[in-house]
Amino acid sequence: MNIVLFGPPGSGKGTQAKMLAEKYSIPHISTGDILRDNLKRETKLGLEAKSYMDKGELVPDDVLIGIIKDRLSQSDCASGFLLDGYPRTLPQADALSTILNEIGKKLDIVLNIDVPPDDELIKRLAGRRMCACGASYHVLFNPPEQEGLCNLCGNKLYHRDDDKEEAIINRLDVYKHQTQPLINYYTKEGVMLTVNGAAGISEVFDEICRLLDDLKTGDS
Ligand code: ADP
Ligand code: ADP
Ligand code: ZN
Repeated sequence: MNIVLFGPPGSGKGTQAKMLAEKYSIPHISTGDILRDNLKRETKLGLEAKSYMDKGELVPDDVLIGIIKDRLSQSDCASGFLLDGYPRTLPQADALSTILNEIGKKLDIVLNIDVPPDDELIKRLAGRRMCACGASYHVLFNPPEQEGLCNLCGNKLYHRDDDKEEAIINRLDVYKHQTQPLINYYTKEGVMLTVNGAAGISEVFDEICRLLDDLKTGDS
């Protein structure tokens, strides 16, 4: 299955993607994780992306399109993929469709994780804590077993620079203006389904699994 997880910052894309990738054995491709990995390794790409990410702005489309083109052509995507955080602009969506065409694939579903009020998203992002291994937690909604430490690897959790108030407000604004229009784009293509992202983590997961299982049954 070729899946896009769509939704505003803090809607739960990363959280759900981790669980879905495991259940359906498909790679989780998070453009945010790829960019943060480049930042950490101080690659040319990471250095180029840094100033945008710190401010909560989008990194230029040509950079992201290059990343996705490379990643989708890798062999682990042969039996499906789960995109998290891409596409975020109309040019990125157009490029994705061109790339998929070129490699003889198409999107099966774009899942819109709908969480309406900004207040809830701000609470989620401000309380998010990350681990270098990719796991993420929330100080109230999904706390680790031991405060400040990752359940999976024991590493110390950190608070992302762009999960601080000013960058959060900017990211939500960027989402509304540049990313939200894609809901219309994918609705017109007939691949968009919406899930209630305001429910708890496991309820959202169950709803997504039901939709994906229906889709698989429909295929056969
Ligand atoms: P995104 O990848 O869409 O930005 P995350 O999956 O990182 O979002 O989730 C943002 C924060 O909200 C994290 O701290 C996560 O633990 C928490 N979270 C995710 N889903 C839910 C949910 N359904 N209810 C409450 N908190 C959630
Ligand atoms: P979140 O899920 O919390 O919004 P991500 O981890 O997906 O955050 O992205 C973090 C930052 O990385 C974004 O604010 C942006 O600067 C950059 N980024 C990630 N994906 C893209 C993309 N598809 N287009 C442009 N910038 C991106
Ligand atoms: Zn960890």
